Amino acid sequence: MSQFYIYRLNVIFILLFLVGCSKSKEPKPIIIDVAFQKYVDIFLAEAQKRNIEFNLADDGITVQFGSTLLNGKEYGGLSIPTTRTININKNLWETSSELGRESLILHELGHLLLKRIHKSTVLGNNEAQSLMASIDDSNFKSLPIYQGFRKKYYLDELFTPSTPTPEWANSELINTPESTSPKTLIYEQNFDKAIQLAPNLSSNTNISFDFSDGNMSIKNTSTSTEYAYGIGSFLTNFTPTILNNYEVTYRFRNKGNKGASLIWEQNNLDENRYLFGIKIPGATLINAISGYFYAIVNANSAGDYNIISVRYENSNVNVWINGKLIFKGNAVSTAPNDAWNCLIHLPTDSAIDVDYIKVYRL
Ligand SMILES: [Zn+2]
Repeated sequence: MSQFYIYRLNVIFILLFLVGCSKSKEPKPIIIDVAFQKYVDIFLAEAQKRNIEFNLADDGITVQFGSTLLNGKEYGGLSIPTTRTININKNLWETSSELGRESLILHELGHLLLKRIHKSTVLGNNEAQSLMASIDDSNFKSLPIYQGFRKKYYLDELFTPSTPTPEWANSELINTPESTSPKTLIYEQNFDKAIQLAPNLSSNTNISFDFSDGNMSIKNTSTSTEYAYGIGSFLTNFTPTILNNYEVTYRFRNKGNKGASLIWEQNNLDENRYLFGIKIPGATLINAISGYFYAIVNANSAGDYNIISVRYENSNVNVWINGKLIFKGNAVSTAPNDAWNCLIHLPTDSAIDVDYIKVYRL
């Protein structure tokens, strides 16, 4: 009797197991356009590192190029939970950087797989707190700079929203005074008299140059095109050379409706490029693109001078404005043989007075 019971129970158990099994294992379609597979794999690998497993076949998923129009607005990506679909805007995708693409797919998968909603709060230094930041939020200030050593924090935060403030965004650290480590001035250009401009500068009808009051005044009169000029092109008789560790400093004031900004880059790599926007009180925010840091300058008015210093030292990129550290970053692919490259970036409707430029070897 008892044996029979055990036998019957086993049969029932096996039957139940088979029924349950066939139900949960019926796979749903996984349709991922080849353009996005690599980034979906990054998401899954980062989840796995944090002991989070996803079996996409459980509920199915579609990641495809498709309409990203919502309430009359065009988005980079759109996550539609009811159909387990992520649509990506093809035009925006094709003009996006590699890092922009990765952070977009991570953001959309954050919605779809992690059920995360937008989070547009900022860290102590005004950088975005999360990859889930959205320009649609009323409290939006900036998009994350998803590159270099910042990546680890943003990935941690994606899977664990309570991740503490990273060291590089600590407001106390950010306001530390400029380092007094030794540096040697190797070139100084002041603009007490006009300099000979390179043909590509003098022939651009959208850009005007004026040399008076001891300044080089540059104005972008275009309403549609922004420009960026290597600082080296304003240094007469100076060949930008291999400096290894260096600092570039200039004294400036913004005079346009938008602040002129600074780009540091090396090796022409996305992850080796930072754009520092200079926000003049009362001026328009330029745009919200990834890899972009906003500095609110100390100026009380647009006419005040400020001193900006970019220091590249042992793969670290640090920026000071008026003697206070405002940004800590790094270059992921160091190129010790590469010449330094800093550019003055002129958004539409911007104007800047440059009083002097100095280059130091560290
Ligand atoms: Zn979103």
